[in-house]
Amino acid sequence: MGGSLNIGKLAGIKVYVHWTFLILIAYIVFSGFSSGQQTIGIVYNILLVLSVFACVVLHELGHALAARRYGIGTRDITLLPIGGVASLENIPENPKQELVVAIAGPLVNVAIAAVLFGVITLFFDIALFAPENIEETLAHLNLHTFVTNLLMVNVMLVAFNAIPAFPMDGGRVLRALLALSMDRTKATRIAASIGQFIAILFVFAGLFYVKNPFLIFIGVFVYLGAMAEANAVATGAVLSGFTVRDALRTRYTLLDATNTLKEAVSELIAGADQDFIVTENGSIAGVLRRKELIKALAEHGQHAETTLIAPFIERNLPYLQPDDDIKEVYPMMQQNGFTLLPVLDQDGKLAGVLDLENLTEFVMIRSAIIENK
Ligand SMILES: [Zn+2]
Repeated sequence: MGGSLNIGKLAGIKVYVHWTFLILIAYIVFSGFSSGQQTIGIVYNILLVLSVFACVVLHELGHALAARRYGIGTRDITLLPIGGVASLENIPENPKQELVVAIAGPLVNVAIAAVLFGVITLFFDIALFAPENIEETLAHLNLHTFVTNLLMVNVMLVAFNAIPAFPMDGGRVLRALLALSMDRTKATRIAASIGQFIAILFVFAGLFYVKNPFLIFIGVFVYLGAMAEANAVATGAVLSGFTVRDALRTRYTLLDATNTLKEAVSELIAGADQDFIVTENGSIAGVLRRKELIKALAEHGQHAETTLIAPFIERNLPYLQPDDDIKEVYPMMQQNGFTLLPVLDQDGKLAGVLDLENLTEFVMIRSAIIENK
């Protein structure tokens, strides 16, 4: 993820902290000082936040190590102010494996909570933690309250992830349980619908019952997460078994880096292509996008006949091969915003192009055919 700082490795997995995390720390310091809090209180809060995020890292590590058992690697673990993300190389499609991987994260927090509870009962006066005393106890800044706060956070992490809705772990658990007795696409659709129903309840509760904006925020977050997961799985199912060759576009216009802006514009107007593969010295240099072409025209329009397109080419693009799996290529193009990519055959010659818009049409056509069956 962009703008992340590597803070080391855990079990061979790189751990990153996103820069926005520093804003959270800065906020604690700033709001502490501006509300007249003593330095010790601010240090306490910072230590607490760091401990909470250590628990989040361990949670993500739980997912990563469970996935490793099934031969699935983890690219990295990234900490954001809203939580952690373990980027697994893929999600196990076997429901039993998905179940284990999904449950491993919250189980780590259950274990941490159990240890902290043990510490409290062994070393601290348990009466301080009775419900009627808890507010008074937490008002003091000491090791007791620190441990109690951390315990409560871990319990909340477990509770939050127990909500059976994507993108929480509970949503994956629910999908995996359903997928034990039906196909995965259908299981995802049902799990996503349940998740969206719960999300709507959250929004309603947040609006009319407890009047808490945080609940509304979670509801919207869950609703969108459920929708994205359902779409991703449906698209994956539609594309499964197809390769780049099946969606290859073999009619396209080639430009050369020595072409001028004016020549590129003529091609844009004369044909249906919006983006162009550009060659340079006989090999492929990259892609000239319509967006970039228009921008270049706005700046160099009066010299369009003499300005070359070379500086406006998007270079260092990945090259595809006809046998590449569309199921993987499609989300890769969407995530990176690649609208057009060259497809090379075994000899390294241009076999055609893959066009994101065409690919989206391909998905729509396949979906229509499947629904008609
Ligand atoms: Zn998790």
